[in-house]
Amino acid sequence: MLYVNGNWVEEGEPSIQAEDRGYNFGDGIYEVARIYQGRLYQWEAHLARLFRSAREIRLDLPWNSAQLSEIAAQLMAKNGITSQDDAILYLQVSRGASPRQHDIPQSSEPVLTAFVRRKERPLEQLNNGISAKLVADIRWLRCDIKTLNLLGAVLVKEEAKDAGAADCILHRDGIVTECSASNFFAVKDGQLYTHPANNLILHGITRQTVIDLALKSGIPVQEEAFSIDFVKQADELFLTGTTSEITPITSVDGQPVGNGQVGHVVKKLQALFEENIRMQVSV
Ligand code: PMP
Repeated sequence: MLYVNGNWVEEGEPSIQAEDRGYNFGDGIYEVARIYQGRLYQWEAHLARLFRSAREIRLDLPWNSAQLSEIAAQLMAKNGITSQDDAILYLQVSRGASPRQHDIPQSSEPVLTAFVRRKERPLEQLNNGISAKLVADIRWLRCDIKTLNLLGAVLVKEEAKDAGAADCILHRDGIVTECSASNFFAVKDGQLYTHPANNLILHGITRQTVIDLALKSGIPVQEEAFSIDFVKQADELFLTGTTSEITPITSVDGQPVGNGQVGHVVKKLQALFEENIRMQVSV
């Protein structure tokens, strides 16, 4: 059962208008939040980012946090999500339907679409790591907005897959930004390095959690631009995201990272993250 614009809709039922701007222009925003054991994780941070994305695209959201939280709770209940379930909550807001023209219409009503899907944690990748390929970052210059326009991300991911890699590490003008649907970290001499949270990357909620956990446990973090060469000399690499959590990257362009095994810094961060999940879902 899905939520579309105030209605509960059965899977497969038509629900989107042909001239919905989300559909025609990718004119909208979204969030993906994690549900662990039937409980939303980092929900407040996802709500805050949704409101920020809306502001950045000049979209007034007619729902407040409490209303969105109520819709999320109802979605979980209607879909039978219990404390046995790990799942994701997807929530998108398009600018709504309006005769097709680029100008932002005065009168369109935003359309909220939301659903939950049961989703296991990616344990195999978390334990063993993945391969990655360096790929040119062809996306636009407002990657900080979580917009429905994901074609750039789709194409870079496909380029990595064509080369037999699981994901891409994106670079722009020689500087490494992030991955197709996650943030990127390098470990060198016991310190974490990640791109600053500016317009060139999504300000990942998992990224911030990892930074906070690292700093709290005495691991220094440098939020600064770094090059492809730095990545090639790193001791460990990993990516972070709501569904990918903290995934080690053990090879880049076919070359092993460090000794090719999952490193001890990433393992330590994974353990801290695990503890953080357990704390949040048990309160
Ligand atoms: N960067 C991009 C491009 C993403 O799509 C995502 C996933 N939403 C992330 C980073 C990770 O963000 P988060 O940790 O908030 O899921």
